[in-house]
Amino acid sequence: MNTPRAYQDAIRDLEAFYDIASEHLRQEYAQPVSKYREPQEWLEGLDITLGDHGMKHDDMIGALREIIAATPKTSTTRFFNQLFGGRQSKAMLGDLIAVLLNSSMYTYKAGGPQILIEQEILSQVRNLLGWDENSSGTLAAGGSMTNLMGMQMARDRAQPAARTTGLSGKVIAYTSAECHYSIQKNAAILGIGREQVRLIPTDQTGGLRPDLLKQSIERDLRDGHRPFMVNATAGTTVLGAFDPIEQIAEICEKYDLWLHVDGAYCGSVIFSEKYKHLIQGVERADSFTLNAHKMLGTPLSCSLILVQEKRHMYHSYSTDASYLFQTHEDELNPGKISLQCGRRNDALKLWCLWKSIGTAGLGSLVNHQFHLADVAREYIRTHEDYQLYSHDDSVGICFNYLDIPAEKLCNGLYQASEMMVGYGQFRDDVFIRLVTINASNTEEDIHEFFRVLEAFAQKHVLHSAI
Ligand SMILES: *Cc1c(COP(=O)(O)O)cnc(C)c1O
Repeated sequence: MNTPRAYQDAIRDLEAFYDIASEHLRQEYAQPVSKYREPQEWLEGLDITLGDHGMKHDDMIGALREIIAATPKTSTTRFFNQLFGGRQSKAMLGDLIAVLLNSSMYTYKAGGPQILIEQEILSQVRNLLGWDENSSGTLAAGGSMTNLMGMQMARDRAQPAARTTGLSGKVIAYTSAECHYSIQKNAAILGIGREQVRLIPTDQTGGLRPDLLKQSIERDLRDGHRPFMVNATAGTTVLGAFDPIEQIAEICEKYDLWLHVDGAYCGSVIFSEKYKHLIQGVERADSFTLNAHKMLGTPLSCSLILVQEKRHMYHSYSTDASYLFQTHEDELNPGKISLQCGRRNDALKLWCLWKSIGTAGLGSLVNHQFHLADVAREYIRTHEDYQLYSHDDSVGICFNYLDIPAEKLCNGLYQASEMMVGYGQFRDDVFIRLVTINASNTEEDIHEFFRVLEAFAQKHVLHSAI
């Protein structure tokens, strides 16, 4: 058979991919942390520079192999640096297929069953939230974007003319001092202005204080300002704390404010019978953000925005485009309520994972992360060289070891290519933040984390002059 050139190229590249992937997976076990080098060293040591002339296949694969080996490994047992990690292989498979199909998720005409798959995911999550047929949702390129959508719908509800004539006057948003930085950034993007975001203090555990929220709203009302929304965080970025949604919902209803729940980090507790109580009251929210690429372990990125009343989504986003929307009703053409035009298929990876382990399986992933967090906290509590700063029911474990500055330990471990872990701050305390979000990790991996940290500290920090 004489196959076209494009077919032969694709097969050859996929075969190369399979070889590269197999080697990479082996390397993840053999060397779970990639060698650290300064940027200049990699610029000199790796073939990164682009030029006028192309490169032969074999040379190209060789260059890629070196670059891959040099890239930080985020799926191994030594990566605790951010709010993602590990690898759910069924989700990876789904994402690879999404690349292969290269659908664009704006119309049924371009996406076919992929659109139905996305609808199925959204509808299942809406059910878990306790929302009815009136609700809706979509996906966007990440939690910062889905938070932006929640915030924009809130703004447009408060000022329906904002979409046509622009914002008139100042409107005020409320969020906790521990919220994700996308809230302020989005306020700037939406023309609300960073100064119109009130940062409400938290209690000792890092959760927003409803009494102070109420005071702040009343002060603004007295001063003639116009409050329009509250953002409640389900899993704050540093401490992994949960704002008290039920009490915040009470306040939102009283003052007629939009309630957005930023569950980018830990909103996945909705899948767990054991931990969904942490977001009790979420059914009263107007919008909800969920990142499946965090607790559920899908590849980056997979971020959902759900809205209790779909009319808000249509009001904020629907735009007629006769060159695009040519067949089928609105529900099947999600481009009508999307932030983007062309949109990557981020649904298939979550669907593949969900299909393979079921809703109960997703719940087990979440439960296991909380279990690993318990193991880590238990270790810290029973070893007197440690000080714990975070609280139960959180997958972010914040601690210090032997009064060694957190920054020194984290950067030392990174530069010695031993482990990837970061540090954070709450009020005046700076500490190491261990995130037990990799559901493939075992208790043993958590104990190994402490062993590596202690050995490194003993060898490199304590015996050198600090
Ligand atoms: C990670 C995170 C975000 C942002 O999500 P991205 O997908 O990284 O843009 C927003 N809010 C919280 C609480 C987060 O932890």
